[in-house]
Amino acid sequence: MTARPDPLPVSLVPWLDDGYRHIWMPYTQMQTAPPPLAVTATKGSRITLADGRQLIDGIASWWSACHGYNHPHIRDAIVRQAGEMPHVMLAGLANEPAFTLARRLADIAPGDLERVFFSESGSVSVEIAMKMAAQYWRNNGQPGRTKFICFDGAYHGDTIATMAVGDPEDGIHGRFAGLMGGQLHTNLPRDDNSRKRFEAFVTEHADQCAAVILEPLVQGAGGMVFHAPETLKTVRETCDKHGLLLILDEIMTGLGRLGTLFASEQADVQPDIMTLSKSLTGGSLPLAATIASAAVFEAFLSDELDTAFMHGPTFTGNALACAAANASLDLFETEPRLEQVNAIEAHLGTALEPCRGMNGKWGKVRDVRVRGAIGVVEMDTITDMTALRARFVEEGCWIRPFGNIVYLMPAFTIDEEDLARLSGAIVKIIGER
Ligand SMILES: *Cc1c(COP(=O)(O)O)cnc(C)c1O
Repeated sequence: MTARPDPLPVSLVPWLDDGYRHIWMPYTQMQTAPPPLAVTATKGSRITLADGRQLIDGIASWWSACHGYNHPHIRDAIVRQAGEMPHVMLAGLANEPAFTLARRLADIAPGDLERVFFSESGSVSVEIAMKMAAQYWRNNGQPGRTKFICFDGAYHGDTIATMAVGDPEDGIHGRFAGLMGGQLHTNLPRDDNSRKRFEAFVTEHADQCAAVILEPLVQGAGGMVFHAPETLKTVRETCDKHGLLLILDEIMTGLGRLGTLFASEQADVQPDIMTLSKSLTGGSLPLAATIASAAVFEAFLSDELDTAFMHGPTFTGNALACAAANASLDLFETEPRLEQVNAIEAHLGTALEPCRGMNGKWGKVRDVRVRGAIGVVEMDTITDMTALRARFVEEGCWIRPFGNIVYLMPAFTIDEEDLARLSGAIVKIIGER
């Protein structure tokens, strides 16, 4: 028999005790990880635990709950839609929430991005973008263009094809190297030298490439690394020069996180294909969108089924999720989300600054940086991740560092007091000796 986790201390939560013997938790060493905290309710920026404690949420459930939890407008839309029709297949049948959402996303998406393909997770939406890009070239008589140029520090998902365009040194990538076809990894063009190297790299590989794929302005799960709008512009110009498609993965940056509806707006760049997920339904239901330009879409049109896009997840265009997303878009129109993001940016910009130069029991601070509603304290290394996570809970905060990063990505609706408690907890704890 292999080692098993110790039996849990008997808690007051029978479903946790019983289920923990059977559930397989994400990104978790099940033998050593402390058991998860039982949550009984969420509201706004608060998480209520089974033992009655409340945590202030600093990361909005993996950056998705941008309007806070249980926003009544989204909840009402879901309840209404569930009563009428939670789901009906999309092939050959149309449902109003999906069609309305497609039109609305096309309205707000940059430039002529105007064709929306729905799926149910970010990773899948990226795979769809990659398939679209490859078939675009096949339909245009260049079937050899199947590779993707991607960047160190990138994260585009956990499925096999998306891991292959993620950071090549990253742990997830390393474990599965044998499973993935080699993609073309390079550095972001951040200055004159790296720009020259990037252009040479693209020149060398362009004829076997379908597209360049990039998270615009902030590489998220790869370590919250920022780059300048000029970098994004350079990537777009280089794509244009070599006739490559540009896929922008806005799953994390899109829908307001950086203070504009889409990050690409800040560089005045239009991708050929864009992916959205995470906050698309305000964090309420799983949904993702892959949005293609008119030119990409047109390459799939002919009299033959052969050039059609052969993809169709069972739950594509799910009415319940699309109704939630329509309600979430309503809130971007009726409530001052982008102003709220700017206010969070201003707060974090000063509140996290005292961390700079700290060198305490949890490790040495290497950098403090803020962009939009993202605040990052980067450490050299974190000495004891499990203990640090528990320490934040002790302070009443749900802040979940990863790698060497302690970060905040709260709901845009978080009030000043709760936000100050989050940033205050980081300054206090990172300063501990
Ligand atoms: C989270 C994320 C993904 C993957 O989305 P899932 O819904 O977790 O599959 C892809 N790209 C980026 C930029 C992300 O932040």
